Amino acid sequence: MSEKIELLGLPLEKLKSVFAEIGLTSLDAKRVFPWIHVKLADSFEVMTDVPQKVRDILKQRCSIARPRCITEQKSTDGTRKALLEFSDNCRVETVFIPDENRNTVCVSSQVGCAMGCKFCHTGTQSFTRNLTSSEILAQIFFWKDKFPITNLVFMGMGEPLLNYENLFDALSLLLSEKAHNFSRNKITVSTCGIIDNAIDELAKFGVKLAISLHAPNDEIRNSIMPINRKYNIKTVLEAAKNYQIKSNTTHVTFEYLLLKNVNDSDENARELASLLRGIPSRVNLITFNSWPESKLQGSSKETAHRFLRILLAKDIRAIVRKSRGDDILAACGQLKSKIC
Ligand code: SF4
Repeated sequence: MSEKIELLGLPLEKLKSVFAEIGLTSLDAKRVFPWIHVKLADSFEVMTDVPQKVRDILKQRCSIARPRCITEQKSTDGTRKALLEFSDNCRVETVFIPDENRNTVCVSSQVGCAMGCKFCHTGTQSFTRNLTSSEILAQIFFWKDKFPITNLVFMGMGEPLLNYENLFDALSLLLSEKAHNFSRNKITVSTCGIIDNAIDELAKFGVKLAISLHAPNDEIRNSIMPINRKYNIKTVLEAAKNYQIKSNTTHVTFEYLLLKNVNDSDENARELASLLRGIPSRVNLITFNSWPESKLQGSSKETAHRFLRILLAKDIRAIVRKSRGDDILAACGQLKSKIC
């Protein structure tokens, strides 16, 4: 028997085509769809308004099972990190971040990553494969089965825009009123700066964009982010401006990891401010979360606040972002799944 078809990540039209291939009707697909996405069913047996013979075919040919959870760790600040394993034994990490008035899930989009950013733990794990849309959705189902989820950030392992087809299927389900019904303002997709057609397509979903900038000039960015040799800062900023207009979002977020003696001087802060002048933006300053074998060091809290003051004085909206889950290696740039 061939492998079962994963249904979690299929938008309704794709679900209908799969159903047609296995001898089921559009009406069957329409009945099954809300069971999967609204009632969060994890077996076909509970779908009481779906005829038994349809359920039997589905059981035989398809799957809506959740991935296997290998480990789940809880940080002292309440953040939880789960290592999930898919049917081919590939593993990714996903993080749940509870806060006073929101519960955010950080979603991975690839197994490993090919981008090789020097500050990132995932970047030390070579790229294995893209996640399917079902595997992307499965991470959200995993947390939704336990907690109400209000926000999603595609900032886990991998570069989402290098897996845009599966990302877009996942987004269309997450934004659909008939499925997960997230507001577009509650979803953020993060990119290290892949500037091609995918970013224009992403703008059509109207979700928020975060760009990992991490440097105020090409020299520094080249030294920590190899992708800058393909898409330099000027290209990235131009794309950010276009994205904000096309997506009709209020601003683009720039992530800036403060690295001791690399990008954290007063001069770097002034350079960054002048780069971002005129772009509707917000800067998230992040204190570096180290991981085993990391050669880079984070800037001190004092440096972070001095850097922040310089940006604010130049009318750049910025905050120092609170790091979450760093004691369980769940914070930004710390994820790694060890095997696969
Ligand atoms: S920061 Fe993102 S793009 Fe860069 S290596 Fe890590 S996962 Fe890949």
